[in-house]
Amino acid sequence: MERLGSGIEAGRLSSNEYASNFSDLHPRLDKHEALVASDRCYFCYDAPCMTACPTAIDIPMFIRQISTGNPLGSAKTIFDQNILGGMCARVCPTETLCEEVCVRNTAEDRPVEIGKLQRYATDIAMETGRQFFERRAPSGKRIAVVGAGPAGLAAAHRLAVNGHDVTILEAREKSGGLNEYGIATYKAVDDFAQREVDYVTAIGGITIEHGKALGRDFSLSDLTSDYDSVFLGMGLSGVNGLGVDGETLYGVDDAVDFIAALRQSHNKATVPIGRRVVVIGGGMTAIDAAIQAKLLGAEEVTICYRRGKENMNASTWEQDLAASKGVIIRHWLAPKSIIGKDGKVAGIEVEYTAMKDGRLTTTGETGIIAADQIFKAIGQSFQASGLGALQFDKGRIAVDAEGRTSLETVWAGGDCIGRGEDLTVSAVAQGRDAAESINRMLAAGAQPASAVA
Ligand SMILES: Cc1cc2nc3c(=O)[nH]c(=O)nc-3n(C[C@H](O)[C@H](O)[C@H](O)COP(=O)(O)OP(=O)(O)OC[C@H]3O[C@@H](n4cnc5c(N)ncnc54)[C@H](O)[C@@H]3O)c2cc1C
Ligand code: SF4
Repeated sequence: MERLGSGIEAGRLSSNEYASNFSDLHPRLDKHEALVASDRCYFCYDAPCMTACPTAIDIPMFIRQISTGNPLGSAKTIFDQNILGGMCARVCPTETLCEEVCVRNTAEDRPVEIGKLQRYATDIAMETGRQFFERRAPSGKRIAVVGAGPAGLAAAHRLAVNGHDVTILEAREKSGGLNEYGIATYKAVDDFAQREVDYVTAIGGITIEHGKALGRDFSLSDLTSDYDSVFLGMGLSGVNGLGVDGETLYGVDDAVDFIAALRQSHNKATVPIGRRVVVIGGGMTAIDAAIQAKLLGAEEVTICYRRGKENMNASTWEQDLAASKGVIIRHWLAPKSIIGKDGKVAGIEVEYTAMKDGRLTTTGETGIIAADQIFKAIGQSFQASGLGALQFDKGRIAVDAEGRTSLETVWAGGDCIGRGEDLTVSAVAQGRDAAESINRMLAAGAQPASAVA
């Protein structure tokens, strides 16, 4: 067993326990299950699920195609709107999107399992290598895409379909963005993120250059001079700090870095974890870090969130999943200081919070939670340089309804713009829509107005 001191250790579990803990959260439906699940859809006219899906997939149609034994036709319906429909089927918080508004989602009934059905159809198409798109005649136009995350990949695919040549410039060693480095391990097993990148780029006309970072290796003005248009899909690479004493102690880590290291480890037994872990935050990252800490063998995992249950960004389903894995979620607690012993984390002092006159305040009442590892999961921030005169809105790139930035020929989408959704499916929708807007501009042979909303 690897010992790093202060209770943070690797190899806490047996190999069977690691394998079982990090297996597929929702294995694919078999054919019979898919037929039964698809038969529950009422095929509503004006289906509310379609409006709730950020990519507006024709959900009744794809479910009908499954129920008639046509999973490939179903996959085409999905990919027409969302080329990353395979990953979205795994990671979409369907309980707050399409399935929430399903007319069968009542006290007496339950929604149609849209996400699972989507996975059924897209898995079959991807496993058989079936492609549904052909590139249009070459346009002679070259587009640069910065970032190979969901937004960049969706934009690149739609641009390639329209006959343009796309170069994706990606800072990291692998493509996929947070699909590869962020999504919880048990949601995307068997290297699915890389298989999906291969599926998306199989259309042709897309070159990915890894290890190329905007602001370090090139600037935005380099791209606007060299390419006909640019799409920025850089996501959020900064992580917010707690701003309390003790933050630099050994054992205080960013949840996003922990999750990325876990995703990249081929052997989960090599990933060290504390015996008593505290996670600060209330979003999906906090929940994912806490669950995965527990799955790595931490004995006690506590999430501290400064507001109430109903204010958490993580959905009720995600919160329940955490509770089912033994994670304790404590509300109305803010970090006050991190307590150290011999340079390592020994605990965290927290202060109770309350709403007073519509504002969140601390009450002065404090307590201490013993911990040997603390994960910070209080949000990410936009961090980039080399962007020249680009305009920002509340710290992210300002865009209009079509994703046009303040600079002519430059579009942006995904987490790096300020729409506040920060979901894989929203990034896909924004990348796809920006690509259509770029295509219209190139087809018209003129620059659009660059009015920013
Ligand atoms: C831990 C975690 C768990 C999540 N879980 C879910 C979930 O379960 N479901 C869900 O819907 N959403 C989830 N999300 C949110 C979702 O992952 C993001 O909303 C989505 O990935 C955004 O896509 P994007 O393409 O905008 O950015 P990203 O996925 O961040 O991709 C941006 C890409 O740009 C690259 N890049 C950054 N800077 C530069 C630069 N200067 N030059 C070149 N390349 C650069 C990055 O390396 C990266 O590959 C989660 C997020 C986190 C952090
Ligand atoms: S992409 Fe996501 S929100 Fe849209 S239908 Fe599929 S699972 Fe639902």
